[in-house]
Amino acid sequence: MGRKFFVGGNWKCNGTTEEVKKIVSTLNDAQVPSQDVVEVVVSPPFVFLPLVKNSLRPDFHVAAQNAWVKKGGAFTGEVSVEMLVNLDIPWVILGHSERRLILGESNEFVGDKVAYALAQGLKVIACVGETLEQRESGSTMDVVAAQTKAIAERISNWSDVVLAYEPVWAIGTGKVATPAQAQEVHLELRKWLQANVNAEVAATTRIIYGGSVNGANCKELAAQPDVDGFLVGGASLKPEFIDIIKAAE
Ligand code: PGA
Repeated sequence: MGRKFFVGGNWKCNGTTEEVKKIVSTLNDAQVPSQDVVEVVVSPPFVFLPLVKNSLRPDFHVAAQNAWVKKGGAFTGEVSVEMLVNLDIPWVILGHSERRLILGESNEFVGDKVAYALAQGLKVIACVGETLEQRESGSTMDVVAAQTKAIAERISNWSDVVLAYEPVWAIGTGKVATPAQAQEVHLELRKWLQANVNAEVAATTRIIYGGSVNGANCKELAAQPDVDGFLVGGASLKPEFIDIIKAAE
């Protein structure tokens, strides 16, 4: 079974109402392959989710950038999975490295979030990735395997999960992984899924790459056999995001 190309736009903590409307209008006007060929999901900050959901073309979808780990209630400042479900937000990004490293989210906490969000019916873009120190010390695969394991231990159905490999040293740095570096880790992750989950999950789970993807480098990355799409930060705020959506053409 083929893995449908997936392009996510992670807007992070950016945008004003005016800027958001402009990005949506650029997306709405774009000529892109049909949703049978590429799945497009954009992730605005929470406060803009209703605006984007209600104005975005119907063949593109929205994701939240985070969600609380269990049922909502007395958790000041958090946004619950139930609220996202209530607003018909289909996707959520979990375990982004900025949350792991700046907000201190552990592998276990991220695994719990993924399990809870899936159980409530959300689809999850689950992020993993090593820091520069970890790469330089040769522990890249141990790190991403431990991050993936904490998720795998807590879920039984991978059909609503997209795994995003995002090396921390490539995020927002302009220092993109080479196609060979990305392919190497994606293939290792697929082998890890094969050995620790099962062959079907390994064959069907989309593994997307994130970290300084742009209009110029996306085609070569997309040509790698185990790169099934992208999670795009900075470039997702710009018109070149359209070129990235078309990367697999
Ligand atoms: P970047 O961010 O494309 O700006 O490097 C990617 C991400 O953090 O998802």
